Amino acid sequence: MKITLLGTGSPIPDPRRAGPSTLVQTDGACLLVDAGRGVLMRLAAAGVLPPMLHGVLVTHLHSDHITDLNDVITTHWVMAPQGFVLRIVGPPRTKEVVDAILASLAPDLQYRLDHHADLTWTPNVEVTEVAPGDVFTMGSATITVGATDHRPVEPTVAFRVDDGGTSVVLGGDGVPCAGLDALCANADAYVQTVIRDDLVKLIPNARIQDILDYHSSVEQAGQTAARAGVRTLVLTHYVPSMQPGQEDDWRSRAAAHFTGEIVLGDDLTAVTL
Ligand SMILES: [Zn+2]
Ligand SMILES: [Zn+2]
Repeated sequence: MKITLLGTGSPIPDPRRAGPSTLVQTDGACLLVDAGRGVLMRLAAAGVLPPMLHGVLVTHLHSDHITDLNDVITTHWVMAPQGFVLRIVGPPRTKEVVDAILASLAPDLQYRLDHHADLTWTPNVEVTEVAPGDVFTMGSATITVGATDHRPVEPTVAFRVDDGGTSVVLGGDGVPCAGLDALCANADAYVQTVIRDDLVKLIPNARIQDILDYHSSVEQAGQTAARAGVRTLVLTHYVPSMQPGQEDDWRSRAAAHFTGEIVLGDDLTAVTL
C-alpha cells in the first residue's frame, strides 16, 4: 500500500502546496481522498489520471477539501471510456454538492456533447452518502467509515482502507474523539490533518483563531496515533504552512507523544507500507 500526500495545504492559498488531497494505492485499488485545490495536477504527477480511480472518498464538505471535485468529475468524463463510473462517497449532503457541481457544468457539458460526435453520454457519477459503521468495497479495498468531530461542521467522517492485510486511516479534519480512536485501532498508518496551535495563536486575526477548536494539533495527532497503536503517523494540511527547515520542529511535537514513524513534507511526499 502506498500513500501519497497530493496536497498538503489548507484553505489559505500557498504557492507550494495544493489543497488537501491524499492518494491511496494498493495492487487492486486506487483511491482519492478529498479533492482540494490543484488535485489533478498533483494526481498526474503521481502518475494517476481520473479514469484510473476506483473512487473518491470525501471526508467532509468544507470547500478546501472539495474545491476541485468539479475538475475530477469533468476530466473523468472526457477521458474515460463509455461505461466507466466515477464513484464518490461522502457524508450526507454530498449528493447535493455533486448535483450542484453538475448543474454548474451544464454549459460545458453541452459544448462538448455538441462538438464531439463520439461523446454521447453525460458524466457517469455515482454518489453514495455514508454514515459511521458503514463498510463497502472499492476495487480490492475494504473501506470502513468512522465518526469524526469537526463540529460545528457535521456530519464528518474518516475512512479506514484495508487491503492485503495493510490498513490506513484517513482522519480528515477534526479533534480527537472516540470514533476516530476506534477506527485507528491497530491500523498500519494514520493520516491526520493538523494545525500548529502555538503558531496559530500568534496570528492577530479573529477568523483564524476560530480554527483552533475544531482541528487536531500536531501534538493531538501524536496522542491519537499512540492510543491507537498505529505504526506510522502521516501529517498533512499544515496550518500555518510548514516552511522549509521547519520539518523537524513539526515532527518533534508529534514525537513527544508517539514513538512510531512520522511522515510529513511537501506535496507528493509518499510512504509505502
Ligand atoms: Zn474542515
Ligand atoms: Zn480542512
